[in-house]
Amino acid sequence: MRQTLDFLLFDWLKAGDLTARERFAEHSAETFAAVLDTCEKIARDKFAPFNRLADTQEPHFDGERVHLPQATHDATRAYAESGMLAAAQDYDVGGMQLPCVIEMAGNAFFSKASVAMGGYAMLTSGNASLLMAHGTPLQREVFARNEFAGRWFGTMCLSEPQAGSSLSDIATRAELEDEADALGPRYRLTGHKMWISGGEHEITENIVHLVLAKIPGPDGKPTPGTKGISLFIVPKWLVNERAELTGERNDVALAGLNHKLGYRGTTNCLLNFGEGRFTPGGRKGAIGYLVGKPGEGLRAMFHMMNEARIGVGLGAVMLGYAGYEASLDYAKQRPQGRPMTAAGKDAASPQRPIIEHADVRRMLLAQKSYVEGGLALALFCARLVDELHTGDDRAQAQALLDVLIPIAKSWPSEWCLESNSLAIQVLGGYGYTRDFPVEQYWRDNRLNMIHEGTHGIQALDLLGRKVVQQGGASLAALAVRVQQTIERAIQTDWAPQANQLAAALAQVGGATKKAWSTGQPEEALANAVPYMQAFGHTVLAWLWLDVALAVQGDGDFAQGKRAAARYFFAYELPKIGAWLDVVARREPLCRDMQAEWF
Ligand SMILES: Cc1cc2nc3c(=O)[nH]c(=O)nc-3n(C[C@H](O)[C@H](O)[C@H](O)COP(=O)(O)OP(=O)(O)OC[C@H]3O[C@@H](n4cnc5c(N)ncnc54)[C@H](O)[C@@H]3O)c2cc1C
Repeated sequence: MRQTLDFLLFDWLKAGDLTARERFAEHSAETFAAVLDTCEKIARDKFAPFNRLADTQEPHFDGERVHLPQATHDATRAYAESGMLAAAQDYDVGGMQLPCVIEMAGNAFFSKASVAMGGYAMLTSGNASLLMAHGTPLQREVFARNEFAGRWFGTMCLSEPQAGSSLSDIATRAELEDEADALGPRYRLTGHKMWISGGEHEITENIVHLVLAKIPGPDGKPTPGTKGISLFIVPKWLVNERAELTGERNDVALAGLNHKLGYRGTTNCLLNFGEGRFTPGGRKGAIGYLVGKPGEGLRAMFHMMNEARIGVGLGAVMLGYAGYEASLDYAKQRPQGRPMTAAGKDAASPQRPIIEHADVRRMLLAQKSYVEGGLALALFCARLVDELHTGDDRAQAQALLDVLIPIAKSWPSEWCLESNSLAIQVLGGYGYTRDFPVEQYWRDNRLNMIHEGTHGIQALDLLGRKVVQQGGASLAALAVRVQQTIERAIQTDWAPQANQLAAALAQVGGATKKAWSTGQPEEALANAVPYMQAFGHTVLAWLWLDVALAVQGDGDFAQGKRAAARYFFAYELPKIGAWLDVVARREPLCRDMQAEWF
């Protein structure tokens, strides 16, 4: 994986060129490589050996405290000490000022080694980065700085039992207590937050919850819709302006842990805010400090959305990668069956390793094309985030990210999960047992189509908003980039694939128009997921063609990349026809189906 990562980062995406920019001027190819080396080593030593342990010894709540394996404490501590929590932050807040693409590449090692043990740090980094963008100077100093230092960890509390995809329906309330608190306008929160990752543990001395809640209007009722949602810092233990713990426990209580299919090493919690389990300041109600302006909570929460969604997609890729490598290794060693020749099978000859069967190679090639293609997609998008922040053409980066973010999140969640399923298949019966790691990779990966916007919600975002916004400007910006690759490829041996890609792009464009030709959202959006699948496969075909053009030489590495690219064009891209057919004719079946007919 490291060779592929380095090739994609430095040969294909030219990440080394970023050091010419003022923000990254103190970096060099050597410092980038050193970051990747450090991450690879910590992931190998502190995370990977304990991935199964974190799964089998899942978090346990004894009614008072949550217990985690010591290995999780040690791994997260090692991560915090590496400085990666503040990797992209300014030097003057203790950061490394790394480009997003290098930060993501470094974090990829942890997702591959143990995605669940890595969860605490990823959440903390996102939480603190959000506070750097939207918090007051004191909120940054007290909360974000201590999170970046690894002294406290953070959470993101959006979902509620009755409100997941539709956050406008959250019911947590915030009542003003003191407008003039130094840590920010102080409120009392009451409500329930469901599915909160890292919501309770004792890895760190405090937990900084970022909580969405509604402030009631003068009539005592919360404003309907997302406009009424505000954002609050709710620390588990109260702190003063000098970031010292006051010793007083805030009114946030763990109601229980969720017991999950996978990702078991990360605690997942139902948290009760303000139920009176604790009484800070002598009364019930969780103390929360407003971040930003009232009513702008969701906007602030989605400030880090690009990075969060690329991060989820990259996590899915790395789980796929782990399964691919495990099944490749197995396939080289497992003797089973003999070659079929015109004269039949020679039962007296030794059995051959299963990698010699064409069907096993098909499964390995599929995995290779999904995970290496997914890695290219995630890194390409992370590189666009750097263009957005420090590049010359920020408008173009924004337009491309707009249409690519739903793909960066959803495509690996679906296809690198499929990759994990194929890894199990390569191992046969052994793959289905807990004696081999591939079943855990599949279980861990199954989350990714659900959280950070479900698959269906990503598809609605893509077809309902992103491809039609500003008269289709973002889609047009993507088409220009794809066309540039086609023009380069058409001059080479890749001309057939270039023509195939041009046809696919035209098909996607045509289906987009036909989906919206009646102007009826319910007609267009009924087939949003097949649309997103076709869109994603077209994007991946484009990236594979672009990567193939960057490959040099005839060694095994180069041949492998070319074979995976050819596989994607031969076996995967043709699938888009069936997906786009239902989109283009606005197939009404799913929309018309009645609940009673099931
Ligand atoms: C392990 C885990 C960790 C999580 N971590 C966190 C966390 O740290 N913080 C946090 O706030 N949340 C977290 N979540 C919550 C997660 O974001 C939600 O589960 C997710 O947003 C979906 O919400 P829901 O579960 O209520 O499902 P629902 O919203 O009820 O969706 C159920 C199904 O209906 C579909 N659906 C819903 N609405 C529509 C629509 N309008 N059109 C078409 N289809 C629709 C969905 O696509 C889905 O398939 C986590 C969840 C899990 C499982």
